[in-house]
Amino acid sequence: LPVIRAQSSPDYFPDSKFYKVEAILRPWRVPQVSSALLKIGIRGVTISDVRGFGAQGGSKERQGGSEFDDDNYIAKVKMEIVVSKDQVEAVVDKIIEEARTGEIGDGKIFLVPVSDIIRVRTGERGEKAEKMMGGRADMSSAYVA
Ligand code: ATP
Ligand code: GLN
Repeated sequence: LPVIRAQSSPDYFPDSKFYKVEAILRPWRVPQVSSALLKIGIRGVTISDVRGFGAQGGSKERQGGSEFDDDNYIAKVKMEIVVSKDQVEAVVDKIIEEARTGEIGDGKIFLVPVSDIIRVRTGERGEKAEKMMGGRADMSSAYVA
């Protein structure tokens, strides 16, 4: 498959410090996406089993019957990943790289501005709450050491 590259100078609107990357993907591609994200220091991910209707509509799922529901909605997984603005393109890139088959039904990614992040355990907000153990800060200090 030809490589699809990230935007070089993203200009999201509205501007925000944090974005939620919300990706609707083929369930069987999710393990691959998750491990690729882990490798770039993405530790916080939420997934849900969802069902949807897009261009793929009720057309037969070519990858086998398991994705196909009895009412024409197709089983998908929604991944939600909240990251800093400067991590968005890397995350989008990875998702495309790992989730793409080139066939109808590969899914879609939505970028949603996030106003604030609050860590329940500590009450930390903003950047402090966004930063995670094993995340980017830990990865870059490992290179310095
Ligand atoms: P703590 O240090 O208190 O454990 P944490 O930041 O590691 O805080 P958790 O409490 O472990 O966060 O996270 C609970 C759940 O929140 C996770 O299982 C995941 O579903 C979701 N989550 C956490 N961070 C993110 C994120 N950045 N993006 C998406 N989902 C997240
Ligand atoms: N940006 C955070 C970090 O690098 C990780 C965010 C996430 O895992 N969703 O520490």
